[in-house]
Amino acid sequence: MTCDAARELISPLLDAELDAAQASEVERHIQTCIACAELQFEYLQLRERVRADAPYYSATEELRAQIDRALRQAASAKERRRAPWGWIALASAAGFAAALVLAFLLGPKMFHSEQAGGDLIAQEVVSSHVRSLMASHLIDVRSSDQHTVKPWFAGKLDFSPKVKDLGPQGYALTGGRLDYLDGRPVAGLVFQRRQHVINLFVWPSTAQSGSRLSTFAITGFNIVHWSEAGLMYWAVSDLNAAELREFAQLYSE
Ligand SMILES: [Zn+2]
Repeated sequence: MTCDAARELISPLLDAELDAAQASEVERHIQTCIACAELQFEYLQLRERVRADAPYYSATEELRAQIDRALRQAASAKERRRAPWGWIALASAAGFAAALVLAFLLGPKMFHSEQAGGDLIAQEVVSSHVRSLMASHLIDVRSSDQHTVKPWFAGKLDFSPKVKDLGPQGYALTGGRLDYLDGRPVAGLVFQRRQHVINLFVWPSTAQSGSRLSTFAITGFNIVHWSEAGLMYWAVSDLNAAELREFAQLYSE
């Protein structure tokens, strides 16, 4: 892959808009090319800065619904006009604009608020993460194979967590363990991103419907939370917020 081609694809890569084959091609290039790696780093920094420093305004339910609708329309329009020229630029511009709109308008809801008790659970999630790293009890079942890890939980838990290996996207599954959180046994899935460990905790949710990703930061750790199909997912790591969010996005797809 040439630098020109890679440059066009870095932003869609960060927005998780590439298919697995394309993504790993770009990632392979970035691993061997300092210029493109630097560009990726700049994008990530920019994204973090927007998230951290952009002013927050509370959006009304009505405005949220409007934005949701507009994004959905933009997404289907994008599907329709995939002309061979320029769709990549279009896609990355749209992705970046969408990220900005979300950061500015949905900020408080998406990134800071959560159902009551969310902050307390987030604290517990961080404690469990730190404990798992200190007590050398990170992994009960060591495997990068989701078909080994998933059945390992059967019989140990009364629910079945989604187990997904994101190795090709740079978040390698390394294993799983049982943990105890929010007053109950939970699944702990362990992933590795460079030298960073990601713990993904999963347990049944009482909420009726799924929720979008919310991001927290507590004492140097980043946390991303979402729920889907009756389960809640809490990802925690000392990895930067942008990449942890990318992990969550890929995992929740
Ligand atoms: Zn390059």
